[in-house]
Amino acid sequence: MLVSRPKTAGTEGTRYRSSRANSQSLADHLTEASAAPTTTDPKDPAARQGHLSTTHVLASVQRVTEPALVVRNATLRGRPGTWTIVLDQDAIRAVERQQATTPVPAHEGPTELDAEGNLVTIPFVDAHLHLCKVHTLDAAGDNPLAEYTSGTMGGALTAIEGAATVKRGQTADDVYARARQTLLASVANGVRVVQAFADVDPVAGLTGVEGLLRAREEFRGRVDVQVVAFPQDGLLKAPGTEELLTEAIRRGADVVGGIPWIEHTDADAKAHVDAMVSLAQRTNRRVAMLVDDAGDPSLRTTEMLAAALLERGMVGRGSAQHARAMATYPEPTVRRLAGLAKAAGLGFVTDPHTGPLHLRVTDLLAAGVPVALGQDDIEDAYYPFGRHNLLEVAFVAAHVLGYLADPQLETLLDMVTMQGYRVVGMPPRAIEPGAPADLLVLDGRTAREVLTRHSAPLTVVTGGRVVASTRTVTELF
Ligand SMILES: [Zn+2]
Repeated sequence: MLVSRPKTAGTEGTRYRSSRANSQSLADHLTEASAAPTTTDPKDPAARQGHLSTTHVLASVQRVTEPALVVRNATLRGRPGTWTIVLDQDAIRAVERQQATTPVPAHEGPTELDAEGNLVTIPFVDAHLHLCKVHTLDAAGDNPLAEYTSGTMGGALTAIEGAATVKRGQTADDVYARARQTLLASVANGVRVVQAFADVDPVAGLTGVEGLLRAREEFRGRVDVQVVAFPQDGLLKAPGTEELLTEAIRRGADVVGGIPWIEHTDADAKAHVDAMVSLAQRTNRRVAMLVDDAGDPSLRTTEMLAAALLERGMVGRGSAQHARAMATYPEPTVRRLAGLAKAAGLGFVTDPHTGPLHLRVTDLLAAGVPVALGQDDIEDAYYPFGRHNLLEVAFVAAHVLGYLADPQLETLLDMVTMQGYRVVGMPPRAIEPGAPADLLVLDGRTAREVLTRHSAPLTVVTGGRVVASTRTVTELF
């Protein structure tokens, strides 16, 4: 019998061990420290007065500040050599290059992880996911999917109407239960942040938002869910929606959504953009709108969104999702829009696997505009697959965008990590001291290897603690 693992030599899996010492709480350490005077030198004046001796305080502090986790033998993006990363619970304490000629730095950390030379990165961001709709394809039937992928504006509109049937009779509990399945996959796949769209319309009411708010609280600290109150059926087309959106924000939704391109006229589309940006401004929220999501070169709602952000002093507070019509624009229009987006601090999210047209990613990145990738859909009326694996999303994007050379593979990794944090308005992250103590040990040593395998991270670390570990074993007989 031949037993093999689908990994190259040296990557048979990270080793993880922990000792009982690590489970000792800060309170335990402090209790020990307070008991110290009974064993101090009686000649020590501080001890005689009932105070702790310096020696014992230092010893206690040293034990209290033991790192939560030490990751050895890590490969880091853009940095030669092999690295050791020392993590506390709240932040990365140190990132040290290992010397080939000297022993590994002796952090006697109680918990250690051997990355075995694999790539260690910041966690992934999914900047666009219709989390209220996951796993609804069977209920929606195949027709909306066929319409959406037809590439026409009429098809996309028909798909939205067909997909809406799922929402009749939907409860917040239904939404929560489905979202929870996906967020468990997020933890396993190292997706730390999700910009999650919840339909708000007269049919769904607030069931989508309520379900996702509940999931957000359950996963807090593991997955940051930004709930977008999203008027999927339009604003002027669906009277009553604006009031529902205002209530959704009042109940705690994080981001104001929008879908101006489906309104009946350009004037209505502009009114939609203005109303949503105004709501965001009044409630101190960001904006995330689905814009120009069809193959119609006359659609201009991306431009409307950027202009509205500039006019209302909301620079850097919005993102444009999809914007597929950009693929049909003449070159001068693309350039003008890229310049306007940069001025407005507008980020973009593209989901090349869920439609036949896609954003002008290369042009926008060249203009200094952030572009992230999103999962978009998981087994719903718009896309039949999806595992919430951002490396899988990047792998498919590599083919659709023609991003196959090594520098382009690095760009794809950027789009699911650092670009994602920019687009959703979060502070930049890196594997460096002071950064949040979150990291992934990926399955591979280079961008090419990890994208080829596009498997779940070997290890996911959140808050200095291992929260998920994945191994795949193949047995050949
Ligand atoms: Zn979408």
